[in-house]
Amino acid sequence: MPELPEVETVRRGLNHVTLHQMIQGGDVLLDRTIAHPFSVPEFLDGLRGTTIAQWHRRGKYLLAELEQAVSQQPAVGHQQPAISNQPSEIVDQRYRAIAASPAASYRHSLDLTPSTAFETDQNPPPPTPAGWLGVHLRMTGQLLWLDQSEPLEKHARVRLFFADGKELRFVDQRTFGQMWWVPPERSPEQVMTGLQQLGPEPFSDQFSIAYFTKQLQHRRRPIKNALLDQAIVAGIGNIYADEALFLSRIHPQTLCTDLSQAQIKRLRTNIIDVLQASIEAKGTTFRTFRNVEGVNGNYGGSAWVYGRDGDICRNCTTAIERLRMAGRSAHFCPTCQRLKKG
Ligand SMILES: [Zn+2]
Repeated sequence: MPELPEVETVRRGLNHVTLHQMIQGGDVLLDRTIAHPFSVPEFLDGLRGTTIAQWHRRGKYLLAELEQAVSQQPAVGHQQPAISNQPSEIVDQRYRAIAASPAASYRHSLDLTPSTAFETDQNPPPPTPAGWLGVHLRMTGQLLWLDQSEPLEKHARVRLFFADGKELRFVDQRTFGQMWWVPPERSPEQVMTGLQQLGPEPFSDQFSIAYFTKQLQHRRRPIKNALLDQAIVAGIGNIYADEALFLSRIHPQTLCTDLSQAQIKRLRTNIIDVLQASIEAKGTTFRTFRNVEGVNGNYGGSAWVYGRDGDICRNCTTAIERLRMAGRSAHFCPTCQRLKKG
């Protein structure tokens, strides 16, 4: 199952190949991949005639920021604000509306300031926001960038057709993956309601020692389960929870209330470090993960405990064990990660 480093790897790949090319149309092969509240025709109409300005990531969600393609007539049924020959104060009002919207928080990288983006009449008109395309890969989703002539995979679910015969294809064997269209007048959080429940990003300032301590200190549940809770910190799944606990020498069944301040501090550092290391290795190697060019990641070969039950610990040569917790497998070294009785 793709976790933060895999989704981040996909995001970076998408930013390399998909930006500023018009989406000319699409084909939805499995209707339920398109998440509510919009229908399949609304999804396709909303995307047609747009370009992707930038891909963002929040937790395990991918968010493509859409703009109306410049030379494109507005798609049928899709409203484009009439701004081309309006006085500049209208443009300024529109800018303020964008800046005040919750979606503005995803726009750090764009640096849309009124003074630079809307300077003179000589500049080309600012791009018209056209909403968002959201994607969650869930268990087995893959986004592939390829030629439209490439034969369809058995599990191809959604095709988005770009100029020059290119295609962004969503392939998903287990069919839990989802795609959303978010219209420009709504924020991603309003449409993709799962975003509302997400805790801070692990690399953000909000994921501080004080925050993490506050989240853990009163919870009588195993730390492994807390790490999988996306409301505490976003983006961690089974692989990196097991790896961070090993590096911190904490047994996965340790109750949050039994963790010392030093352990919490160490765990937070190791979460950040292991996610960073995996992003640098372009995500992990597991059966169904591929980046947009269809290539597997490299982290898996260097895992400490994840997927290594029965193999010897790289630190102490004890056999790695596996146990079931909350329906998931936890991998750990019984010597390096002793369960202390609180
Ligand atoms: Zn060990």
